Amino acid sequence: MNISHIEHIGIAVPNLEEAIKYYENVLGFKCYKQEVVEDQKVTTAFFKVGDTKIELLEPTCPESTIAKFIEKNGGRGGMHHLAFAVEDGVANALAEAEEKGIKLIDKTPRKGADGLQIAFLHPKCTEAVLTELCEDPAKNNNLHLYRPTDLPEKREARF
Ligand code: ZN
Repeated sequence: MNISHIEHIGIAVPNLEEAIKYYENVLGFKCYKQEVVEDQKVTTAFFKVGDTKIELLEPTCPESTIAKFIEKNGGRGGMHHLAFAVEDGVANALAEAEEKGIKLIDKTPRKGADGLQIAFLHPKCTEAVLTELCEDPAKNNNLHLYRPTDLPEKREARF
């Protein structure tokens, strides 16, 4: 797989509003987005730190895996996962990881927060760090989309 950078660091927090205050007032970042991700039963808040983002995760219900993580950490939360941006697609990266014997949490990419396609690798196989692979479909538009008017020309050029 072709990883370009750390896309984001996921941090579990018991109280999103309190956590945002720390990141804004002390570290001086600006929260540019808050989003509920139904799939993961979390509310997220995002900050940009160079090319990398901080993703805060607050559980929306006690069944959320983030709620269980916070409970295990004595109610305090903490660093939850590391997310890498893959340039050659999450589906490719998953296939490659599986071939190398890595246990997958997600067999296929799914919709994550902030418009990304994501998938998780199992921490049992990733040196105990829950690892997320991300792909920004907006950035890869040129790989998947073409204007219909371009097609005949491209075909002609190829043959
Ligand atoms: Zn994440």
